[in-house]
Amino acid sequence: AKESGRSRLELFTPELHRGILADRRLAVQIQDALERDAFVPYFQPQVRARDRGLHGAEVLLRWPHPSLGLLSPPEFLRVAEQLRVVPRIDRRLMERVREVLARWTAQGFVAPRLSFNMSAGRIRDPDVVETSRLLSAGPTRIAMELLESTLIEEEGDLFRFNLDRIREAGIDIEIDDFGSGHASIVGLTQVAPDVLKIDRRLVAPVAEDPRSRNLIRAILEIAQTLGISTVAEGVETEAQARALAELGCDVLQGYHFGAPMDEDAFLAFARAWIAR
Ligand code: C2E
Ligand code: CA
Ligand code: CA
Ligand code: CA
Repeated sequence: AKESGRSRLELFTPELHRGILADRRLAVQIQDALERDAFVPYFQPQVRARDRGLHGAEVLLRWPHPSLGLLSPPEFLRVAEQLRVVPRIDRRLMERVREVLARWTAQGFVAPRLSFNMSAGRIRDPDVVETSRLLSAGPTRIAMELLESTLIEEEGDLFRFNLDRIREAGIDIEIDDFGSGHASIVGLTQVAPDVLKIDRRLVAPVAEDPRSRNLIRAILEIAQTLGISTVAEGVETEAQARALAELGCDVLQGYHFGAPMDEDAFLAFARAWIAR
C-alpha cells in the first residue's frame, strides 16, 4: 500500500500539486468567509431596449478576499461546489439582498426588479423557495435565472412542485446563457420560462456579422411565439445595443450600460439613470 501510495504521488506534476495546495487554502478561506458572512451581492443594471428605462438588475456574487482582491464566482465556485457550500452561499446572498432592499427603500428607492442566479438543482431546496417567496412579497419583482446546462438533469417531481410554488409567488423563471448549451430547446419545453437570456457569445458579433443577427432574430421569433421575453447579456457597445433593439430584443445588460456594482454604487447609478 505504501508503494502504490508513493507511485501515485509521483504522477502529480508540480503544477497539479500547486493547484491542489491552492485549492486546499481556498477551501479553508471559503469556510472562513461563510462564518464571517463575507460574501456580498453586486448589482448589474438592465435597461429596456425600447426606451432605455431602468428594468432592474442581476444580482452577482462577489467575495472581497483579504489578499486577492474582489473575487468573481468563476474564481472560487468550483472549490465551493466541492465543499458543497454553494446552497448556503446562495441562500445567505438572498437574505443579504433582502437587507439591501430594505436599506434602499429607507432611502426612497424601490428597485423595480432583481434576478438571482440558481442552478436548477437549487429549486429542490425548500429554503430557497421560502426565501424567494419572502423576497417577492415586497414591491420588487423577483426572478430566478436557471443555467440551461443544469436543466437537463432536473426533471423530478420535487423540482416541478417547487417550480410551481415559485411561480405562484409571482417569481419569474429565466433561462440563462440561452444558446450556449445543448439543452436550449429541451429547457423551453421543460420549464416554460418567462424570460430567455441570450448568451454573451451570441451577442458579441451582432453588430458586424449578419449570420449572428439572423440567428438572434430566429431565437427572438421562437421566444415571441411562445410568449417569452428576452434579455441580451454582454452588451458592450452602442452598435450592439442598436442592433439588438432593432431585432426586437426586450432588455439589454452589459458594460455599455453599467458593470456589476455594490449596493451604494447601484443606488447612485439608479438615481442618476432615472433622473437623466
Ligand atoms: P452569468 O450569469 O452569465 O453572469 C454574467 C457574467 O458576465 C457576470 O460575470 C458579469 O460580470 C459578466 N458581464 C456582465 N456584462 C458584461 C459585458 O458587457 N461583457 C463581458 N465580457 N462580461 C460581462 P461574473 O459576475 O463573474 O459571474 C460569472 C458567473 O458566475 C455567472 O454567469 C453565474 O453563472 C455565476 N454566478 C454569479 N453570481 C452567482 C450567484 O449568486 N450564485 C451562483 N450560484 N452563481 C453565480
Ligand atoms: Ca446569470
Ligand atoms: Ca448569463
Ligand atoms: Ca455566462
